[in-house]
Amino acid sequence: MRIIVTGGAGFIGSAVCRHFILNLGHDVVVIDKLTYAGNLASLAPVASSTRYAFEKLDICDTGAIRAIFSKYRPDAIVHLAAESHVDRSISGPDIFVQTNVVGTFNLLEAAREYLEANARLRDEGFRFIHVSTDEVYGSLGKIGLFSETSPYDPSSPYSATKAASDHIAKAWHRTYGVPVIVSNCSNNYGPYQFPEKLIPLTVLNALHQKPLPVYGDGSNVRDWLFVDDHARALGLILERGSPGETYNVGGRNERRNIDVVRQICVCLDEMRAGEKPHERLITYVTDRPGHDQRYAIDAAKLETDLGWRAQETFETGIKKTVRWYLERADWWRPLRNNLYQGDRLGVLA
Ligand code: NAD
Repeated sequence: MRIIVTGGAGFIGSAVCRHFILNLGHDVVVIDKLTYAGNLASLAPVASSTRYAFEKLDICDTGAIRAIFSKYRPDAIVHLAAESHVDRSISGPDIFVQTNVVGTFNLLEAAREYLEANARLRDEGFRFIHVSTDEVYGSLGKIGLFSETSPYDPSSPYSATKAASDHIAKAWHRTYGVPVIVSNCSNNYGPYQFPEKLIPLTVLNALHQKPLPVYGDGSNVRDWLFVDDHARALGLILERGSPGETYNVGGRNERRNIDVVRQICVCLDEMRAGEKPHERLITYVTDRPGHDQRYAIDAAKLETDLGWRAQETFETGIKKTVRWYLERADWWRPLRNNLYQGDRLGVLA
């Protein structure tokens, strides 16, 4: 298959490209604006492949997106391009509305026109995979899990724009017959994640002997999924998922934020024993406004219908991740030096 991957230079997008090209043998065309979160170094493992092409462009650029469909004539699009950091959405929501809502609308319109001009592609299994988040469902109490039928109740500007784009994507399926599939995934972690998110931020701050910030009392719960498990799920959804369906993706790895940070400290104590105990760096800071208490995913539909299983437990995945950051300063040092030094984002005055 020839697949357009939007946001392919980002954290999950680059894992998807590596998986699709190296393991599944697909041809991939990456569309990416290369914002602060986009990094061509994350695509280095596939950059020399004849199966890989890159186009630097903004998904909000209607003309350019249309031209890409005509130029590459894709069999599918996996749409990951987004502004993705909740804290940044609190300080500056405008770009979130532009990219996540208007950009998704633009891609759907381009796909609709492309299918209208090439009707046989619909029969030949063209797919539009819209990659979204469990944050659209809002916050859970102490018990229960999000399923595909959970009502939408987003709390942050980020999750609200993702929710809006999910609704638009589903409407383009129902109204225009674009073969859209929506996936809603829990928190990802793993190699190549921009060091503003909890896990890489904690690892790098610890390496620099800086405070490890924990929001509020650290009791907020997230359901963690190793990024390569997410990439495999998207490969299966593309191959076997049904248009119009939603699939929840989650690792059954619920952890309180404070326990995630402590576990990273334990890993670092083992790997860099000279600097232990790293837990002494943990610092509680003002909570995030609108901070959802708990997310947890019921991935039974994906497991039963498509035969997916997460391969990594949190224990194995976090060790791999911490080790990767220790070994790949060549990847993160330019980001830490030039783009983001680990300061607090998303605090209201
Ligand atoms: P990321 O921030 O690491 O990467 C986003 C990528 O999109 C970057 O390469 C960036 O340059 C690109 N991009 C941003 N605006 C663009 C634009 N206007 N045009 C073209 N490219 C643009 O994000 P991520 O963590 O890899 O998330 C990817 C997708 O998965 C997002 O849609 C996100 O909502 C979703 N998601 C993320 C998680 C998670 O835990 N990270 C969980 C569930 C769903």
